[in-house]
Amino acid sequence: MEQNNTQNDFTIVRMDKQKRIALVAHDSRKQDIINWVTVNKEKLTKHFLCGTGTTAKLLAAATELPITAFNSGPLGGDQQIGSRIVEGNIDFMIFFWDPLASQPHDPDVKALLRIAALYDIPVATNQSTADFLLTSPLIDQEYNRKIIVYTKRIHNRTKAFDNNEPMA
Ligand code: PGA
Repeated sequence: MEQNNTQNDFTIVRMDKQKRIALVAHDSRKQDIINWVTVNKEKLTKHFLCGTGTTAKLLAAATELPITAFNSGPLGGDQQIGSRIVEGNIDFMIFFWDPLASQPHDPDVKALLRIAALYDIPVATNQSTADFLLTSPLIDQEYNRKIIVYTKRIHNRTKAFDNNEPMA
């Protein structure tokens, strides 16, 4: 990833042609992600893959693709992926979450989706979106993500606090 010049309230972050893709699936969606990755193996092999512990291990066993495994989701794996997004080391996410079951780590799931939105990460939360993303011409091109410059925002907020003004 390459940090370019900061313009106004945004900074441009370059995504390389080779994407760093996080793969996550809740238990009821694991077979779905295995099927999807199997069908799309040829395309995915061009990219760097990682995932939460169980998802990554099942995918690696089913497809023989190299996939870096973080902790299992309920044991902090979602937070590990979130922190790598913040650090600029993951730039794409396929997250088949279960809309019909609550998870013990619901706050982590919400946090991960929030961080992905904040850092302008393409996210597929179901198969049709994953299909659209993977067939986009942008998948194999460089792409500039736009990220809010928080240092500037924090500076403005602290200045407002100092001046006893309402904080944006
Ligand atoms: P898992 O975690 O891949 O370790 O099952 C996924 C999740 O529930 O976030």
